[in-house]
Amino acid sequence: MHQIIKKYSRRVFLTMAACLSLTMSALAFDTPENQPAALLSVSAAPASGSVPTSAAVFAAEQNLAKMQEQQARALAFSEQMNSLLNAPLSKRTVAFSSDLAANDVVRSAGRRLGNFKLTFYCPCVRCNGRSDGLTRSGTIAQEGRTIAVDPKVIPLGSRVYIDGYGVFIAEDTGGAIKSQKIDVFLDSHSRCFENGIAHADVYLLG
Ligand SMILES: [Zn+2]
Repeated sequence: MHQIIKKYSRRVFLTMAACLSLTMSALAFDTPENQPAALLSVSAAPASGSVPTSAAVFAAEQNLAKMQEQQARALAFSEQMNSLLNAPLSKRTVAFSSDLAANDVVRSAGRRLGNFKLTFYCPCVRCNGRSDGLTRSGTIAQEGRTIAVDPKVIPLGSRVYIDGYGVFIAEDTGGAIKSQKIDVFLDSHSRCFENGIAHADVYLLG
């Protein structure tokens, strides 16, 4: 008799455990915010014989959310980098702005070349030695795109980010532009004077 009760209570216990496991699985699987990957990781757990606890489900959901956030950040990062590298640089008025401070994308994807001395030049004979506006690369210099560099430091054709000024293309050179100096092209001679000399961190984007 004692044995029968023992056997019976064991069966009741097992049935209850099975019901509990089903209920917990149903709870876990029916949560609307569950994503397929979370379902996979949760449904994989019972194979080892254990029932996922609500803590395990919560941890799986948190891991998934973290992964999705990292993926979104990586995508935004590569989109920003692509636009820095591939977007055509249109004509714009060059001026220092904190809005153009080097952001995380520039800092981590670009190579910091150091703090450069910035001077400004226009297409006039006094600034440029010639007035045809042609750069060393053969392009017509344009404000917002053209900078003159030392090609030993920054290869011609490179995209260059100047902290506080934005993206430029190294397409010109100059007799006095050696090592850590950049001559920034502007349309007007008077604005070259107004800007005088500046210093900024410079990043080579590629
Ligand atoms: Zn000039």
